[in-house]
Amino acid sequence: MEAQNFVALAYLVAALLFINALRGLSKHDSAQSGNTSGAIGMGIALVATIWLALDSDPGRGVAVTLILILLALAVGAVIGLRMAQKVGMTEMPQLIALLHSFVGLAAVLVGFNTFLTSAGGYGSTHTFLMGEIFLGVFIGAVTFTGSIIAYLKLSAKMKSAALTLPGRNWLNLVAVVVSVVLMVWFMNTDSVGIGLIPLIIMTIIALALGLHLVAAIGGGDMPVVVSMLNSYSGWAAAAAGFMLQNDLLIITGALVGSSGAYLSYIMCKAMNRSFVSVILGGFGQPTATAEARDYGTHTETSAEEVSTMLSTAKKVVITPGYGMAVAQAQYPVADLTKRLRESGVDVSFGIHPVAGRLPGHMNVLLAEAKVPYDVVYELDEVNDEFSDVDVVLVIGANDTVNPAAEEPGSPIEGMPVLKVWEAKNVIVFKRSMGNAGYAGVENPLFFAENTKMLLGDAKASVDSINAELTVPAN
Ligand code: NDP
Repeated sequence: MEAQNFVALAYLVAALLFINALRGLSKHDSAQSGNTSGAIGMGIALVATIWLALDSDPGRGVAVTLILILLALAVGAVIGLRMAQKVGMTEMPQLIALLHSFVGLAAVLVGFNTFLTSAGGYGSTHTFLMGEIFLGVFIGAVTFTGSIIAYLKLSAKMKSAALTLPGRNWLNLVAVVVSVVLMVWFMNTDSVGIGLIPLIIMTIIALALGLHLVAAIGGGDMPVVVSMLNSYSGWAAAAAGFMLQNDLLIITGALVGSSGAYLSYIMCKAMNRSFVSVILGGFGQPTATAEARDYGTHTETSAEEVSTMLSTAKKVVITPGYGMAVAQAQYPVADLTKRLRESGVDVSFGIHPVAGRLPGHMNVLLAEAKVPYDVVYELDEVNDEFSDVDVVLVIGANDTVNPAAEEPGSPIEGMPVLKVWEAKNVIVFKRSMGNAGYAGVENPLFFAENTKMLLGDAKASVDSINAELTVPAN
């Protein structure tokens, strides 16, 4: 079979496997097979692309092309393997943000390379190609710097709060309008020397725009930003696919771009926000009424008291958050759930759509610890039932259970939260009273009359409760 035909067929198979991967990843029980399908598709795509590169050798010799590809693969594989071995589950969000920045940078480099090697033509094809290059570099540059800021915020190397320049929306608008003018200039020039001027100016503007857009979005809106950058990285890859005339890259980019956009839409809906309001004015902005308030004193409890409370309860709901991931407490939590359920206590989980630092973060942890899927509910499914619950265990969650979201003027006003305070008893697991949640907003729940604080590392606390519990042990 001729290389071109083989590659076209392989790309078709890989594209179908990618679509199957997305389908599988949308449900707990098929996620693993979805992942395998994606990995096989990527393997096929890699082999086909290497074959294509060797077949369409630009004159440097097949051996040199092969050595260059193998070298790049080896460097990438070593870095990838090291990262995969080192990264903890809690560091996944920042790693993903960093990987998005690579896609953005790659799109910028492909754009410049395509321009320098194929500019200077005439007619409509030339204009169309110039448009592709310009858009590809623009989206790539915004994705590159935006993802770096997201990485810094998610890894706490930079404050998560919103950082804005005065006249922020006007600055963004001016950046976009100037870029459109530069695009018209760029598309209408046939000279590489002159074309480079608008391309470079736009790249600088787009890099600054990426920095500014994401730095200005703070606190609770970061999940939308992460999925939005995911979507941008897809469109950047699709643009690179057009420039490289690689069909599979176009398909893959479009899949990532549209699924990321849809995820952003779902997250916005879950957080009662419109996409435009996230981009134009994020949560986490200081407001007039956001200054520190005195909510009174908190009450502390012990593992012994909590275990007694649990063994006499009829209905228990666990609402995990980022702290469960940090403490890796999912295994003792799964153990506690199993033992309580075996002794007849109705135990279920209430999962907030943005709990943790990644969409689906809590579901992954609970699945890893083998908590049955049928006791894990979403916010909408449990939120009206808290008044019937005897004990809620808030394990390392903060923003997602913060009643301040119902206070006018709060920086997280309007964000739907789990109404755990309606339960008879609430036990909050956290390490100290000093730290606020990701959005940096104080949580009045901790000072409520029916709330008791179990201070300490969540894993150690749940281990102690398990040790004190008098119901069947495994
Ligand atoms: P938060 O980040 O609001 O709070 C985490 C809580 O866990 C804190 O109370 C912290 O208190 C506690 N904690 C941390 N480590 C431990 C530990 N080892 N043991 C016990 N407790 C611990 O968590 P939520 O899940 O409630 O909210 C997620 C936030 O992150 C939201 O604001 C969301 O918008 C944002 N976000 C979510 C993303 C997503 O896609 N899901 C992406 C980006 C941001 P202490 O430090 O005192 O222990």
